[in-house]
Amino acid sequence: AVPVLDVRNLEVTYYTDSGRARALDDVSFTLRAGEKLGMVGESGSGKSTLALAMMRMIKPPGRIEGGAVMVGGADLMALDAEGMRQARLSRIAYIPQGAMNSLNPVTRIGAQMVDAVKSHLPGEARGAIEARCKRALQSVDLDAGVYRMYAHELSGGMKQRVCIAIGILLDPHVIIADEPTSALDVVTQRQVMETIDNVQKAINAAVILIGHDMGLMAQFVDKVAVMYAGRLVEVSTVREMFTDPKHPYSQALIDSLPSLENKGVFRGIPGLAPSLLRLPGGCAFHPRCDKAMAVCSTTRPEQIILAGGRGVTCHLYDGDA
Ligand code: SF4
Ligand code: MG
Repeated sequence: AVPVLDVRNLEVTYYTDSGRARALDDVSFTLRAGEKLGMVGESGSGKSTLALAMMRMIKPPGRIEGGAVMVGGADLMALDAEGMRQARLSRIAYIPQGAMNSLNPVTRIGAQMVDAVKSHLPGEARGAIEARCKRALQSVDLDAGVYRMYAHELSGGMKQRVCIAIGILLDPHVIIADEPTSALDVVTQRQVMETIDNVQKAINAAVILIGHDMGLMAQFVDKVAVMYAGRLVEVSTVREMFTDPKHPYSQALIDSLPSLENKGVFRGIPGLAPSLLRLPGGCAFHPRCDKAMAVCSTTRPEQIILAGGRGVTCHLYDGDA
């Protein structure tokens, strides 16, 4: 099947007073309708930057330098500002980290939902938009009464589900959720993941979940993407990633997990993540890599697609493609 999402060679640079930082370096991957991808990596590795770039929400001094984000066959990067405004929510929805804490405290939930979509639906009567919002609340297992409530009357899990409901109001092809379960207790985390799972199946969207908890994520996603220093270093199915990780950094990540069942909170691996302002040459991972070769400090590895469709960015596999 043709992928519903095709990200090609996406590049983002921040022009800071201390120099240029390549925050996203040649990131490419695809997702089919109904597929769920978990995006992992240390903080600063580019996960949130990737989400913002896909939404064209990178702010100065950051700049999208190039690349394409094809959603349902149309390149978001080529749309004009109004086209992109329309595409948000209708083609691609983004639930930022901490979204549940940015609900407006003085506006009822229902009114906030209507506000989020009314400019997308100029021909739709107010009553029809309200009905759409109430259906969305139902589909995230919230009581219809939530429509008339204020954010402070809701638990964290309920607020997060409101944000998911807003995300699905226009049946987007792609949903990106950045750390959707952070700051929630373990039981609520599972419920929120199950809610995302249910709505994703209902609208057959491709979903990208950005997170740190590999163990929780592994139970809900089909594929895992690993980022390091602004690059996508591996994309594999969950099973492949856990049984046979290819990239040395993925291997270190998997090794650092207590076990798959036992809440795999990422605990880090030896060595410091590099500053994007002073990236090591060649493969940025080489100072921390136990398999580094001479070529690794001089030559940047390109992403290779292995048999079966796994993507890996490492010189160990150059001859393997
Ligand atoms: Fe390690 Fe070299 Fe592969 Fe980088 S390219 S991960 S340094 S083996
Ligand atoms: Mg982040």
